[in-house]
Amino acid sequence: MSARGLISTGVLATLLICLAGCRKQSDADWPVHGGTALEQRYSPLSQIDDSNVEKLGLTWSFEFDTNRGQEATPIVVGGVMYVTSAWSKVFALDAKTGKLIWKFDPQVPGEKGVHACCDVVNRGVAVADGRVFVGTIDGRLIALDAARGRPLWSVRTVPYDQSYTITSAPRVVNGKVIIGNSGAELGVRGFVTAYDAATGRKVWRFYTVPGDPAKGPDGEASDEPLARLAAPTWFGDWYKYGGGGTVWDAIVYDAELNQLYLGVGNGSPWNRKVRSANKGDNLFLSSIVALDPDTGRYLWHYQETPGESWDFTATQPIILADLKIGGARRKVLMQAPKNGFFYVIDRTNGQLISAKNYVPVNWATGIDPHSGRPVETAFARYPDGPTTIYPSGLGGHSWHSMAFDPRTGLVYIPVIYSHLTYSDVPNFTFRPGRWNTAAGFGPPPTSGDHGVPPPGASPNESGGLLAWDPAAQKARWLVRYPRIYNGGVLATGGNLLFEGTIAGEFQAFRADDGTKLWSFKLPTGVVAAPVTYAIDGEQYVAVVAGTGGAVPISRRIDEPARLMPNGRVLAFRLGATGTLEFKEHWAPMPRVTNEPFTADQIARGRDLYFGGCSVCHGGYIVPDLRRSATIANRDAFKAIVLDGALADRGMASWKAYLTPQQVEDIRAYANDEARKLAAQEKAKPK
Ligand code: CA
Repeated sequence: MSARGLISTGVLATLLICLAGCRKQSDADWPVHGGTALEQRYSPLSQIDDSNVEKLGLTWSFEFDTNRGQEATPIVVGGVMYVTSAWSKVFALDAKTGKLIWKFDPQVPGEKGVHACCDVVNRGVAVADGRVFVGTIDGRLIALDAARGRPLWSVRTVPYDQSYTITSAPRVVNGKVIIGNSGAELGVRGFVTAYDAATGRKVWRFYTVPGDPAKGPDGEASDEPLARLAAPTWFGDWYKYGGGGTVWDAIVYDAELNQLYLGVGNGSPWNRKVRSANKGDNLFLSSIVALDPDTGRYLWHYQETPGESWDFTATQPIILADLKIGGARRKVLMQAPKNGFFYVIDRTNGQLISAKNYVPVNWATGIDPHSGRPVETAFARYPDGPTTIYPSGLGGHSWHSMAFDPRTGLVYIPVIYSHLTYSDVPNFTFRPGRWNTAAGFGPPPTSGDHGVPPPGASPNESGGLLAWDPAAQKARWLVRYPRIYNGGVLATGGNLLFEGTIAGEFQAFRADDGTKLWSFKLPTGVVAAPVTYAIDGEQYVAVVAGTGGAVPISRRIDEPARLMPNGRVLAFRLGATGTLEFKEHWAPMPRVTNEPFTADQIARGRDLYFGGCSVCHGGYIVPDLRRSATIANRDAFKAIVLDGALADRGMASWKAYLTPQQVEDIRAYANDEARKLAAQEKAKPK
């Protein structure tokens, strides 16, 4: 079939309009994080559609140098793809061929990796006026020359000695680069900063939670709303723990209203009993905050989870749209935050239009339409010991991009069905630079009137692609996945949705009814979101593949012995027939030592392992300690854990947190687990 035969009338029209002055040029590009400023992740490109998508094939792939997590949305401008990989590295590729044009390594110190809650991921760059902007894991914002990838300026956006990281994509608004940060689990105070895009000069900063009252105002744009609105909602010693409220993903610019919307994160620590003397809404945690993008001046806020205590962030992607609701056309902002409710908010003033749970929820029975506040259940704040809450702190939905198709009027959400048993922690002590949730995660309660599963809840975690009608607040269709933490969603004018899964399938669905039309098997999972673009009249769909992020790094979800291959960018077009070549890597058999460790020592080591090591080492990207050659070697183990021998690779020294005896206890536990694993593998039929 000729290329011309594949071009739909929609694309031809776009090209003709483009020839007539290129006003629609952006339809062929993917110029900003969410596709357009509305961040709908919808492209009108329709050459690939529900009648021909089965002819879609791999046209090129580009392999990264790491198997750490990949979360980037590529930006495509003028035939060039700008994409990031783990450790905040930036790559410019020819979007037609995948050929490398340039790459930039910000040389993030490996030891900063321990401050990344959820792998050393990066969700992408912003491109504007010949510059590429990237935020780095160690908290810098760097401007690169788009043609050659050379640094133009670099600013440190966070105090280096605190546990801040950056994983989010910057946004460029009115000549300013806006950047947030992460780290609320590790005891930081959230803020967003605007820098002059040309020079890197700081223009304004907005703190999302109040600081230490003894230190007075910050001298920043947030001073007035923090004093007037936020400070009266905080109690106790929150400032000793940072307070949290990091803006680690959604920052969306409303060009029509010249408003900037921040999605604000969870509290530090999670448990309000510790953070704020068990009272207060703790503004602006778990809120959407609207600012004047030019000055950082506060405009309005809407708090989704007052007194947040479950890691229920409001950092999830925000989509702007005009929706017909009750006969009237409304300017809305839509979000499916972690707390399990889908919100439709009037973006002119922050008033709630409607909210409805999109996954089974038991912490609240609903959202009061008049006050806009959740109606909490009696057991929501785990007052009587371990309580199972739906959804878990992973959320009903996390950062994985949702899409809105204006043709179907549906929002497509990569949902998570999960729950978590929360409890208080007796004698909580704050440990700077470490996880500080002040919540325990125990086995589910066996009796008592708490943690009642909500209707429709399943006992096991699972995932899904949910088509949600935001005007009616109703589910239209659902595709179930056996695993959680699947990829973001792209909607196109071809009546198609594209989404990858954590199990390594990249697939296309019909947007109106969810029929699966096409899939492509990958050697690694997909958590990032696809994009689409057109070059020389041909439409491409591209996605970054690479298992990683919060869940895969901390949970075993695959055959544990298989090592993930490196992440890569994959591009597809109609009629292409490329195949992927990859080698299976298998981790070596566990090595064990017969040193006489005591049962007590192994038990202490287990507690230490789950108190610090398991966040990274419990998965299968960061080495599985059971298979580490060093567990049989006391000196080598100590050199890595205490002396920082592998700091460059992301394993920082734990000298500040562990004694030599505790390191030995961890080795005893890892060795004991290795012994069990070796026995299992020996018993397995070959
Ligand atoms: Ca969090």
